[in-house]
Amino acid sequence: MAFTSGGSKKKICYYYDGDVGNYYYGQGHPMKPHRIRMTHNLLLNYGLYRKMEIYRPHKASFEEMTKYHSDDYIKFLRTIRPENTSEYNKQMQRFNVGEDCPVFDGLYEFCQISTGGSVAGAVKLNKQQADVAINWAGGLHHAKKSEASGFCYVNDIVLAILELLKYHQRVLYVDIDIHHGDGVEEAFYTTDRVMTVSFHKYGEYFPGTGDLRDIGAAKGKYYAVNFPLRDGIDDDAYERIFNPVLSKVMEMYQPNAVVLQCGADSLSGDRLGCFNLSLKGHAQCVDFIKKFNLPLLILGGGGYTIRNVARCWTYETSVALECDIPNELPYNDYFEYFGPDFKLHIQPSNMQNQNTPDYLDKIKTRLFENLRMIPHAPGVQMAPIPEDSVHEETDEDDNPKNADQRFSIRASDKRIANEGEYSDSEDEGEGRRNEKNHKSPRKKVRAGSPVQNMVADASKKEESNETKPAPTPVAVDKPQNGKEEIKETEKKEPVVEEPKKEDKPVEESASTTTPSTEEVKPTATKSETPTKTEEKMEVDETPEKSTPEAPPKTEEKTTTEPVAAPTETEKPAPAPAATAPATAPPPAEQPSTEEKAP
Ligand SMILES: [Zn+2]
Repeated sequence: MAFTSGGSKKKICYYYDGDVGNYYYGQGHPMKPHRIRMTHNLLLNYGLYRKMEIYRPHKASFEEMTKYHSDDYIKFLRTIRPENTSEYNKQMQRFNVGEDCPVFDGLYEFCQISTGGSVAGAVKLNKQQADVAINWAGGLHHAKKSEASGFCYVNDIVLAILELLKYHQRVLYVDIDIHHGDGVEEAFYTTDRVMTVSFHKYGEYFPGTGDLRDIGAAKGKYYAVNFPLRDGIDDDAYERIFNPVLSKVMEMYQPNAVVLQCGADSLSGDRLGCFNLSLKGHAQCVDFIKKFNLPLLILGGGGYTIRNVARCWTYETSVALECDIPNELPYNDYFEYFGPDFKLHIQPSNMQNQNTPDYLDKIKTRLFENLRMIPHAPGVQMAPIPEDSVHEETDEDDNPKNADQRFSIRASDKRIANEGEYSDSEDEGEGRRNEKNHKSPRKKVRAGSPVQNMVADASKKEESNETKPAPTPVAVDKPQNGKEEIKETEKKEPVVEEPKKEDKPVEESASTTTPSTEEVKPTATKSETPTKTEEKMEVDETPEKSTPEAPPKTEEKTTTEPVAAPTETEKPAPAPAATAPATAPPPAEQPSTEEKAP
């Protein structure tokens, strides 16, 4: 492979847990965590591990997750198992768990891993120890405070943004998944500390939100940006809207950090999608955002034709690394998935682009009008910040199970697959966008979002224009009560929290950054429970072939032993052949019945 040379490369940290591919939503379910493992294996075999630091994330704790989510909901996720669902019928309904968001073995741990990577990436950026952090297991943008939605249970994005807000005045969230980033938008709907920008299919499509006219509320008015799209958008059209909108957003909002959700269901040929982007069109967004030289957290998201998800996220990792990789796929554990061409790039289809230039221009103009309404670089009050969620390890001997660890790939990627995970056959399109199989969108809950209440009002203008802000603690306000009064009964914590002196991680001797004071939390307050530190592990360079054996397992395995670097000739053994064909029709994401033509 040819790594590009020259230029000032950025430092990239990448988070991956070798267990993540073992979680299985169930037969016929389009969401396949296995795609994360396929991505990982492919990018290893491209040699991309040489250019970045690879970490195994800690498993996010209950305390970390309830920085946003309600205690009841997270307790439920921690408790529910396939064996005990009959005892929890009522709660399953209440939390929208059971259908699109099934109960499966290890569900809670899956959420911990997904969230752990995103929060750890945010902490890494806050410490200025990386320019870009990547967590392909994150990006689960539909999860709500007290409700699962759209295959998402815990909103790792909201939690990562909350972490970034400790150090950054303004955080920009950009979502290129084909579905509206409703969970993130809702969380920050009434604050100007986070701007959410989502490009998505709109009209008879899940989740039914994301109208052009949804622009935020109260302090957050004009800080939610929605670009509704029709079927078939292609690379050229996408670039012609994405770049100018983001340029204007950058100019007007001047964010200090960016979170980019790279849902790959906006690619051509996605099992649930209806856009027509190639990898290049999709990754152009990553490249464009990256050029603003802001701390950048790159996350996964949707993506249901899993061979293309692996292609896309591998390619986007290479784009982040500024490293050219050949179109010819290297041999990898899942090589047979990529036939018949065994190429990296995909061809868009000949489907019609229903987004006419006229339509796109009109929407763009409307969005620009809204963006002109915001003051340049809205400021916020400065104040001490709470502790980091992930602490620096100080005790070398202390190697807590939960720590983010520099990865040993050999150890980490040994796994067990579910039968069926090897099958890409479900991806072949038989489940595409079942328009009939939809239910009404769940009611829109808006006004006074939970997180809005935690972020500060912008009363003081901030001066910074620098691309790389110093890690200055940023204030967050005490949570007030917004719309959450409805659900507030679930919580009994005081609204204002006393400064937490020291929430010591169990096995931690000291914390590095601990300017703790008033912590701000979406609804309830909770002391941070820092999860230990990150520990880099040497990369074992020989990707281990996976073998389908047993049911998903989740125990920790980490190896610190470095192994010799692989040569280009070292090929892993062939991957197991595809097995289980899809039987049940996949539960399509429910399109909305709500129609509000933009
Ligand atoms: Zn999606």
